[in-house]
Amino acid sequence: MKIVDLSRELHHRSVTYPGHPPVIHGIWKNHEEAFAESKNVYGLSSMFISMPDHGGTHIDAPRHFGPHGIPINEYPLEKCIVPGICIDLRHIAPRAEITPADLEAAVKRAGVAVPKGGTVLLCTGHHERTFPRKEYSTDNSGVNVAATEWLAKQGIVHFGIDSMRPGPDGDVNLLVHKACLDLDITHIESLCNLEALLGRGPFTFIGLPMKWREGTASPIRAVAVFDM
Ligand SMILES: [Zn+2]
Repeated sequence: MKIVDLSRELHHRSVTYPGHPPVIHGIWKNHEEAFAESKNVYGLSSMFISMPDHGGTHIDAPRHFGPHGIPINEYPLEKCIVPGICIDLRHIAPRAEITPADLEAAVKRAGVAVPKGGTVLLCTGHHERTFPRKEYSTDNSGVNVAATEWLAKQGIVHFGIDSMRPGPDGDVNLLVHKACLDLDITHIESLCNLEALLGRGPFTFIGLPMKWREGTASPIRAVAVFDM
């Protein structure tokens, strides 16, 4: 079994979506303090975390798209371990829309079928090109509504992308989110390292969310597993 890590590293002040709260990762107790507290028996260090539910590599819950969508704690785990493919869209210009024709051509070039009940990871090259510069937050290419509909029609449960939003920044991105609700699919954002999957054929995608009550998303440790 070979595992490819597709998750961004999280750390204090790691980049978050424009307007969202910061990621805070601090020391609650260090080893020295804990050692003294234990009356010199043994010291155990611990840290604390505060972050937006859309921080780092994460999956959007349908609740993000509308008040009646299911929250992340109710998102079916069956949809979190699924067959996947990765397609090469690195030729699409920054901020441009990825169309159904682009997807169709990229799937054809990949030489693999879109897995029913699975996921399609869109390697736009955006993370590789811009992270962690400020363009990472603004300049991504992404699917338009027609491309989102095309993906849903292939029978996927979600798709993933190596940027902070599934569509290019602006109205298109908002309407792609609405389309996901209408089509009963979702998407995974801020993936990285998708280049490592290109040309390697199908894999098992695993991305399990935390069980946040009424949550609109959750960070996941996203991985692709080969030869499982
Ligand atoms: Zn999100």
